[in-house]
Amino acid sequence: MPHGSYRENETRIERAVSVLRRPAGLMLIPIVTGPAYLLGGETAMAIAALCFPLALALLPDETNYLRQLVSRDRVTGLAQRDDIVLFLDKALSASARNGRTTGAILLEIDNFKLLEERFDHETIEQILRVVSTRLEKTLRDSDVAARLEGATFAIALSPAMRLDLESAIQMSTRIQQAIADPIPIGHAKVYVSVSVGFSLAARLDNPNGEQIMKAATSALIEAQRNAPSAIRSYSEAMQSRITSRNSLSEEVARALENGQIEAYYQPQVDAANRKVTGFETLARWTHPDRGLIPPIEFLPALEQAGLMENLGELMVNQALSALRKWDDMGFEVPRAAVNFSNEELRNPKLVDRIGWELDRHNLTPERLSIEVLETVVANRSEDVVIRNLAGLARQGCCLDLDDFGTGHASITNIRRFSIERIKIDRSFITRIDTDSDQQMMVSAILTMAERLGLETLAEGVETDQELDMLAKLGCHHMQGYGIARPMPFDNATTWLAQQQSSNVAPFHRKSG
Ligand code: C2E
Ligand code: CA
Ligand code: CA
Repeated sequence: MPHGSYRENETRIERAVSVLRRPAGLMLIPIVTGPAYLLGGETAMAIAALCFPLALALLPDETNYLRQLVSRDRVTGLAQRDDIVLFLDKALSASARNGRTTGAILLEIDNFKLLEERFDHETIEQILRVVSTRLEKTLRDSDVAARLEGATFAIALSPAMRLDLESAIQMSTRIQQAIADPIPIGHAKVYVSVSVGFSLAARLDNPNGEQIMKAATSALIEAQRNAPSAIRSYSEAMQSRITSRNSLSEEVARALENGQIEAYYQPQVDAANRKVTGFETLARWTHPDRGLIPPIEFLPALEQAGLMENLGELMVNQALSALRKWDDMGFEVPRAAVNFSNEELRNPKLVDRIGWELDRHNLTPERLSIEVLETVVANRSEDVVIRNLAGLARQGCCLDLDDFGTGHASITNIRRFSIERIKIDRSFITRIDTDSDQQMMVSAILTMAERLGLETLAEGVETDQELDMLAKLGCHHMQGYGIARPMPFDNATTWLAQQQSSNVAPFHRKSG
């Protein structure tokens, strides 16, 4: 028998006391002490009376599997994954006899990576302990809680006659509420939320403990896609979605490696004279069977595979190579823009890497625009992101605020991050030639930008009429299907050459 923790011992004593309190339990005392007296006199009777409750406490109890725990998590003192699986297996084998069913709830702290970047190791352990204590408080005595890896916790639900979807959701909500209270850390307060996935044995086909845990893990993954504070119950459709996502992740990783993913270039022009002011680099996957796949379909898979930085490296490299070639051909393309993911912006070596890439292509930093989503600037960003953006701006790169108008960036942050240009989101541009509300919104944005000394670019300009209206309102740059769609390098080069020879955009071919 393993050594029990404080809580286990406490439970055993409670159980012994509760047995003795019952009339039937009290009747047991003379049954034990009587023969002891006959055999060994008063001393034996006294020893028997003292030892009897102890023996009761140590007696195995089928319904309380806690006793069989073999391992404890070092940080929280909770059980571990194997204990949960064992508990579930035992509960399932008993359920044929007693009709009680079980299930597992998995939960993970949302955005735990961010917490880990913000706080030191000890504070993180303190947060985990607070979460585990709060979690335990919400449980019934016979539920078992465990810490899996990182910030993931699991609960094996004590077998019950009525364990349905509703009660599992209620329990998940109770857990979320208990954990949501602020956690005092020094003089500050930290707020954490958890996403929850659960799986009930009754909803699986002939399950074992391991299968219940796997199903709950799938439900947790699905909940995390809708984080923060989401709750999901396992379903079969969920499993097949996850399997197909995993296989897409593997496929997209191979595609990145063997050159199927490459940069397309969409021109940006000066609204006043339609001269090219730059190209935005947009990722495209040319799939051997499925044809051209847009980023919206493969970026989540790349993200899941942890390959966003690799994509970023590829895009920067291709953007700068394109500029180098256009320079060498004598085209005047002031800059190329690359979209930067959150993951890349967290890389402490980013500024050095970009500097090195620019040198390698023999280009000056102002030739590269870095597009940052408004949401990145709007959220309270991590120190490393702030340092990177400041470092890139100091180096001379241009910072473009992407999808402006969708992410609530404050004016303070726009200034703090040294944003040079805002890209007004397509949702404000559509039908601007006829829609007076759109005109009012864009005018307001343009006025604000002017006061702040920011350049402006309108995204998603599709028609000549929209283009004319935007030029009239005073927008500086434009990009959209109305000018040209994103194109592979060769087509973009042909387009540049046509612009140069046409009257609309009079380019000056450099000599050499
Ligand atoms: P985004 O940065 O806002 O890029 C603009 C999107 O609008 C592009 O979609 C572009 O093809 C599309 N677009 C341009 N003009 C028009 C127009 O006139 N009408 C309409 N309806 N759409 C227009 P795309 O290429 O599908 O990219 C979607 C998003 O994927 C991008 O939005 C960007 O956030 C992301 N993305 C694309 N490439 C990369 C990349 O290399 N790295 C990262 N991190 N994100 C990327
Ligand atoms: Ca963009
Ligand atoms: Ca955009």
